[in-house]
Amino acid sequence: MIEMNTDILWKTQYSRRRFLKLGAATLGFSAASGLFELDSFGAWASAQAPMARERIVRTSGSHNCGGRCILQAHVRDNRVVRITTEDDIPDTDKTPQLRGCLRCRSYRDRLYHPERLKYPMKRVGKRGEGKFEQITWDEALDTIAGQTKRIMDQYGPDAIYMQYAPGNAGRVSERVWMSRLLGLYGGFLSYYGSYSTAATQMATPYTFGTTATGSSRDNWAHSKLIILLGWNPGETIHGTNTAYYLKKAKQAGARIVSIDPIYSDTSVALADQWIPIRPTTDSSLLDAMAYVIITENLQDQAFLDKYCVGFDEAHLPPGIPAGQSFKSYILGESEDQTAKTPAWAEAVTGIPRETIIKLAREYATQRPGALIQGYGPQRHAYGEQVVRSGTVLAALTGNIGVKGGWASGTGYQARSHFVAAIPVPNPSKARISVFCWPDAIKRGTGMGPEASVKGVKQLSANLKLMFNLGGNCLVNQHADNNGTARLLQDESLLEFLVVSEQFLTASAKFADILLPADNMYERDDIVMPWGYGDYVLFMNKAVDTVFECRNGYDWISDLADRLGLKDKFTEGRTIDQWLRYLVEETAKKNPGFYSYEEFKEKSVYRWQYPESSIAFQKQIEDPGNNPFPTPSGKIEIFSQRLWDMNQLQEIPAIPKYVKAWEGPEDPLRAKYPLQCIGHHYKRRVHSIFDNTGWMEEAGAQEVWVSPVDAAQRDLQNGELVTVYNDRGVISLPVKITPRIMPGVVSVPQGAWWTPDEQGVDRRGCINTLTKYHPTPLAFGNATHTNLVQISKG
Ligand code: SF4
Repeated sequence: MIEMNTDILWKTQYSRRRFLKLGAATLGFSAASGLFELDSFGAWASAQAPMARERIVRTSGSHNCGGRCILQAHVRDNRVVRITTEDDIPDTDKTPQLRGCLRCRSYRDRLYHPERLKYPMKRVGKRGEGKFEQITWDEALDTIAGQTKRIMDQYGPDAIYMQYAPGNAGRVSERVWMSRLLGLYGGFLSYYGSYSTAATQMATPYTFGTTATGSSRDNWAHSKLIILLGWNPGETIHGTNTAYYLKKAKQAGARIVSIDPIYSDTSVALADQWIPIRPTTDSSLLDAMAYVIITENLQDQAFLDKYCVGFDEAHLPPGIPAGQSFKSYILGESEDQTAKTPAWAEAVTGIPRETIIKLAREYATQRPGALIQGYGPQRHAYGEQVVRSGTVLAALTGNIGVKGGWASGTGYQARSHFVAAIPVPNPSKARISVFCWPDAIKRGTGMGPEASVKGVKQLSANLKLMFNLGGNCLVNQHADNNGTARLLQDESLLEFLVVSEQFLTASAKFADILLPADNMYERDDIVMPWGYGDYVLFMNKAVDTVFECRNGYDWISDLADRLGLKDKFTEGRTIDQWLRYLVEETAKKNPGFYSYEEFKEKSVYRWQYPESSIAFQKQIEDPGNNPFPTPSGKIEIFSQRLWDMNQLQEIPAIPKYVKAWEGPEDPLRAKYPLQCIGHHYKRRVHSIFDNTGWMEEAGAQEVWVSPVDAAQRDLQNGELVTVYNDRGVISLPVKITPRIMPGVVSVPQGAWWTPDEQGVDRRGCINTLTKYHPTPLAFGNATHTNLVQISKG
């Protein structure tokens, strides 16, 4: 922690990025993006009366937000009175400051929100009604211990599930502690994948053998062309400072093209060209680009011959019948006999063929080029295909393993760092896809790999007890809210549900026992950057926990005591000693790492490197000694493993465009003519912040509709409209804007589901409209795949 007089703070010179007053952020960019500066800051600051001496605590955010930044909590009288961000080191290209976005900067509105949960409660109405009665912590923990014992004894560990939750991604979050306790108690059913990245996490390794396909972002300064495929880091952050590095690339001469149904804030600020595309059709575009590149002989044939399997017939694995190569598919020489021409793709994607041809030629000839995939396009019916289509295009153009190129796919930074974790010994090996827990509730016993199960042949029990700690994926952020609610309301299926939360969210309403959680400003933790960045942060506690809210380690230790496991669980350590243990374990593998005291004081440890990192550089420069981590040791355009699955229509061995259910080619469009997606934006972290007024000022909850579609329905900007399909109805204001392409509407994701007595969601949660229909390979969510209609009122 740092003590300083705020007089000094007011006099600080803000060299590159100054505080961005929200009201002036017409394009919505945060201070973190570095794209706008307001000269008024100095005048505004100097007009403030000098404040009393205050304590400044260097801390961070711990939610799963896309970034990880340094925050400075200004504390007076045990109260956070202001939140600023890192401004006390030189802000250089090599080490840019880790500046926070408007979400954490507005956190006081959440920290001191009047509706914070204040004490433990038990359900007194029907499950999901949201009726609760205050109880003591003792009663809450006795009840949870009793139910855990009963369900473990009666059904075994496969009946107990730890739900995915993005509310707290710290090293010592409640989820970590509860997982440790359940592991010690006999085990639990765990998950793989995530709601954000299921398809790309699963599909990318089929090409490269890893998800770590990203170079360090300073590489983009060497790119001649950067294609943002469904990617909006200006709002989603996607690694703190990503927009800054894109800006540097643009300044260095890169042309930036954004392919997206929405003209996003990133496109507005950075793109030279916006190419609107129909959702679910990205693979069709990429196939047609491949067609142009191949037919004009622009591919890097030497690269393909040397490093890849399955581009052409001569490089298929032994025993594969003729016509299965990627080239044959693109040229129409495989089963479908359809050449993937720009004209073919124009009909599918809505992109003029001339635009496709120009982009393909540019990507093939303006090397190095970076085709960077966002996560939106892979949250589609066949999201795995767009992931692999992108990786193949990067291979086709030799843009892998080179400075300024980009391998596409997941894109996690290949240069990673070891930071120790709390030991979670789980004797149970059973795992399900993060999206498939409703199936485990309905029909878990006997459920096997055909329904996402890994680690065991079949589950031995239906899911009966769930812990949902710090997350809203149970109802709000899953899919088909109405269907999910019906499932959870049946107490004969899921028998007991424990929720820990800060607010009465849509998911919290379904709790049997509802616990009041502490807030990220009320606890210490260690937090890692998200996807990119060579640093780790210590999140210092700024203020005391309020009311009866408790830290996870604290109450789960008491629960461990009731289960006879306190000594094993705690190993005699306090939370502070556990954090010290993590720092010491981290230091063992990182010589020169800070001591615990230093780390707490500085709050950030930065690894230093003389060079930028380039994913797969070794594999390209010295392939003999550095094979790709795939079965063949090469880039697998054709995957023998996928071929052997023998589900080629939905899981082809080479990436293909597969028509989506509820896509633009679905006959259901006669009834529901509009494709509906749910974009992430600056206003929320998933559903976090939905109840804060300051953030509503920054971005209202409105359905985006193009002027063309609005005129056809006589909609007026700002009026209340109804968006509906067979799964549900939402009601919210309409934003009529040319920033979304005709035929597509978008409901910003994350609003809290608020059904009225007729079941109409009055807040506008996209997942009232989405479908519980896992993708075929990853069993991930396809929640950008929806057909809807809109009407007035
Ligand atoms: S929400 Fe995430 S990206 Fe924004 S300031 Fe907080 S940690 Fe950084």
